[in-house]
Amino acid sequence: MKIAVARETRAGEMRVAMVPELVAKLTGLGYEVAVEPGAGRHALIADEEYAEAGAVLDDGALDGADAVVSVQPLATDRIGALKAGAATISFLPTGQEPEVVAALRDARVTSFAMELVPRISRAQSMDALSSQALVSGYRCAIVAAGMLRRFFPLNMTAAGTVPPAQVVVLGAGVAGLQAIATAKRLGAVVKAYDVRAAAAEEIRSMGAQAIDLELDTLEGAGGYAREMTEERAALQMERLTPYIADADALITTAAVPGRKAPLLVTSAMVEQMSPGSVVVDLAAETGGNVEGAVAGETVRIGNAQVWGGQNVPSQMPGPASRLYAQNIVNIVTLMTRAATDEEAGAFAPDFEDEIVTGSCVTHDGAIHHEPTRAALE
Ligand code: NAD
Repeated sequence: MKIAVARETRAGEMRVAMVPELVAKLTGLGYEVAVEPGAGRHALIADEEYAEAGAVLDDGALDGADAVVSVQPLATDRIGALKAGAATISFLPTGQEPEVVAALRDARVTSFAMELVPRISRAQSMDALSSQALVSGYRCAIVAAGMLRRFFPLNMTAAGTVPPAQVVVLGAGVAGLQAIATAKRLGAVVKAYDVRAAAAEEIRSMGAQAIDLELDTLEGAGGYAREMTEERAALQMERLTPYIADADALITTAAVPGRKAPLLVTSAMVEQMSPGSVVVDLAAETGGNVEGAVAGETVRIGNAQVWGGQNVPSQMPGPASRLYAQNIVNIVTLMTRAATDEEAGAFAPDFEDEIVTGSCVTHDGAIHHEPTRAALE
């Protein structure tokens, strides 16, 4: 059985789905691992490192592969060249990429979307949304600290005292909590807000102040946030305004699964910030938490420099790839027959398993993921 590691072809994608130190985990399961030359180049991993780890470097790695792992979905022309019955494991935003889903179905490829792995305890080690959000959250705090032309920490010196920076974080999920932790480690005074009931305690456990807007909490299915009504959104904005006006740095990370990111901060709110302040919007790519933020650009709104995140985990491709590759190894292990089995080492996902069936998008010439099928067929 052959697992191929694809070279990423999308503009701006710097990560790679497998790292040399984890190749042995796959060969240990019984796979031949074939890597497209140059696959790790942007993550600063040389071909030789894969070869030394036991992988085969091959321009034709995808030909005849039983499973192909990548970060972004394969381009449609590459999907057409896969053998029928092959599997792909990657991020696969089905709503945004209907043509890729159709190509996978038509090529009779069994595709798995890492963002659809159910967030149950057993699947935590396969949860690539969390591993990549961790990288994003850290990066957001570092970007804010780098852009701000002042100290994050309090400095008490013989030449006087410099007060710490005031940082506000909106959205305290995996990325937001990591942004809080990083900003705290750098010495900033951090306040944060999230709509989920459990969030206040999580914010406090990071040493930050949980902002209480005296609004109802908004919790939907699976412990995720629900979408706000217009009235709730307006109240939230009004009550957040003084906190944002006082912030030197604002970091926004709010998201609602399956929806456009909620707009939390209007440009009028940003205009109340002081000269030199910075805004980092991690959600710029998915609709934006901050009005006027542009993914991949820094724009000026009032006195503030507003940085819009674009494929933020790719900005730290080494650690992001390492974490993602571990998620991949764990899901491949789940889908591989145990060594005690007659067909040890065979890639054989068990469709009775909720992780397998939950993350499967296409199988056997059909769209397996019900919401995607309803949207596309
Ligand atoms: P996410 O990326 O979907 O959203 C980020 C945050 O934005 C969430 O905390 C959400 O509550 C918040 N948000 C949404 N609308 C908002 C608004 N209007 N104002 C302020 N904040 C808003 O979430 P995530 O980081 O992927 O995770 C969210 C939850 O899932 C957390 O409770 C987390 O602990 C849990 N989780 C569980 C697992 C698991 O069990 N395997 C794994 C990861 C996360």
